[in-house]
Amino acid sequence: MRALYPGSFDPVTFGHLDLIQRASGLFDVVIVAVLRNPNKEPCFPLEQRLMQLTQATSHLPQVKVTSFEGLTVDFALQQQARVILRGLRALSDFEFELQLAHTNASLSAQVDTLFMATAVNYSFLSSSVVKEVARFGGDVQHMVPAAVAGDLHRLFNRPVG
Ligand code: ADP
Repeated sequence: MRALYPGSFDPVTFGHLDLIQRASGLFDVVIVAVLRNPNKEPCFPLEQRLMQLTQATSHLPQVKVTSFEGLTVDFALQQQARVILRGLRALSDFEFELQLAHTNASLSAQVDTLFMATAVNYSFLSSSVVKEVARFGGDVQHMVPAAVAGDLHRLFNRPVG
């Protein structure tokens, strides 16, 4: 079975990667897809986020990294993925994620949303937190792959550790 894991991944964190690693043990193919969202101004351009993800998942043969725009359910159907994967960190994620899942269910009965609980040691992690820490010169090496820590360092022109 094929699963779609959509997100902004601006940038990818160890939390995302933990979920991708566990999902790749459950599904034949995990399509990690960066959403090209015209309403969000990302810190990292699309090509850089794709490169960060490709590099960080290169040891997982079931994982395919790509990008998309438009409705997630349309892309899932186009990719023959019956499952949309989303991560749940805390109760605060739940309300928004449930609304999103219900919206997607109302758009297509052929695609189901599956929530995966995040690893407890990464449950505090979000791309925004990582950027905030890096912006002020904090150590992010336990939060993101080394290459991403380097990208953050260059982005904010600050030491990362
Ligand atoms: P979006 O803008 O779509 O929320 P994100 O890149 O922030 O994009 O998140 C993509 C998905 O990864 C979401 O389902 C989110 O809940 C999940 N996620 C975010 N942080 C973590 C984490 N630390 N551990 C596991 N999953 C996470």
